[in-house]
Amino acid sequence: MKQTPLEEKLIDNFKPGKITKDGFLGDDNRHVHDIIKADLLTLSRLGVEVETIADRLQYFIEEGKKGLETKVDLGDFTVQISWDRGLLPCPFGEPRRHHKIIAAVLNKKLSKKIEYSQLNVHLIKEHGFFLGKGSTFRLEPEDLVDVLNLKTP
Ligand SMILES: [Zn+2]
Repeated sequence: MKQTPLEEKLIDNFKPGKITKDGFLGDDNRHVHDIIKADLLTLSRLGVEVETIADRLQYFIEEGKKGLETKVDLGDFTVQISWDRGLLPCPFGEPRRHHKIIAAVLNKKLSKKIEYSQLNVHLIKEHGFFLGKGSTFRLEPEDLVDVLNLKTP
């Protein structure tokens, strides 16, 4: 993962109504860098790499695509994606655009479900950013490790 320094002028991108209606920070008052630092600390405590989580999330998106927006059964998991028209920029400001794909992954054994977007996967993989607390698409590192079966023995 590249650590992308966040220029102050980009901070606006994280606010509601700029890139997404709800923004990326929820009611979290911490600086983006502090949110990232805290979540990466949680992950290192759990012994799970950011890339491992991002790759797993991407795997489910790829499998979900095969179902063309119907539910795909993957044994212990189901995944269903929905795909909206258009592309989203990353709030960290690189030129790359991201498809508006939402994935819903259900861990059948745990009866626990997570929902995330393609942009979430990018934000986690490239920036270590799981969004601010209270944000609609905030993903708790603990929940991801749990639902995605990434716990180290
Ligand atoms: Zn980015």
